[in-house]
Amino acid sequence: MYNISRLHPRAESLRSREMLSQSLERGLLVPQGLIAYGRGEAFDYLFGERTIPAARNAIRAAAAQMILADRPVISVNGNVASVAAKGVATLSKITGADVEINLFYRSQERIRKISGVLRDAGIRNVLGVDPAYQKRIPELCSERRRVDSRGIMKADVVVIPLEDGDRTESLRKMGKLVIAVDLNPLSRTSQSASISIVDDIVRVIPHMIDQIRYLNRLTDEEIHHIASSFDNSANLGSVLSYLAHRISRLSTKRQEKS
Ligand code: ATP
Ligand code: MG
Repeated sequence: MYNISRLHPRAESLRSREMLSQSLERGLLVPQGLIAYGRGEAFDYLFGERTIPAARNAIRAAAAQMILADRPVISVNGNVASVAAKGVATLSKITGADVEINLFYRSQERIRKISGVLRDAGIRNVLGVDPAYQKRIPELCSERRRVDSRGIMKADVVVIPLEDGDRTESLRKMGKLVIAVDLNPLSRTSQSASISIVDDIVRVIPHMIDQIRYLNRLTDEEIHHIASSFDNSANLGSVLSYLAHRISRLSTKRQEKS
């Protein structure tokens, strides 16, 4: 692997780029996955490449909902498997969530490779692989309409990092509580999820693991309160205000310099 100095100011993003490029070479990822990453990365730059307070709020609410869920499922695509497989394995272990592969550009070859990476990370039972359990989400025409009858089909809470808007909307129509991780606060996914975490998936997973460990020490009542008092629309508003303030501050500094 190309050697990335930890002192480089953008080391995290370079590491993700490197892992995604390798995944492309190994056939886990399609080129469109790189474009999706680039769009997310551009937003991350605007946020200052850190987890902003509104993202922390959303992560706390998401952690509470995962603890309260009867059947949580984490949906994984090529990008997520490339940069966060180990974290997904830990998250699945501490919440009891199933892990299901869902691909927009679906092929048996990619499914086989991605499930290999997930198994190597420690996830024993990867769903979305066996065609015998395939079901279709109504009203959706892309390849992503396929879901596992033992996983997303039965789930009450679904975590969807880097998801497509059509599918997010369909999952909501099916009555699922949808937790999105998407750096674009304006995407249809962020706009239609139940909880929208606007942050990089690489940072979200460890924060989520920490939150779940912390919340597990609270009473059921306290966890319920955290889950029910979260307002996604207001929180997305805070994300946009943060962005507006940051850009305004940066432009003021420039004007002062000139
Ligand atoms: P939508 O279908 O929801 O309207 P879109 O069509 O603009 O969104 P997609 O290609 O469907 O985008 O989904 C990819 C999304 O993943 C993008 O919105 C991008 O911001 C986000 N994304 C990419 N990389 C990351 C990452 N590392 N962490 C979090 N989000 C990411
Ligand atoms: Mg889309």
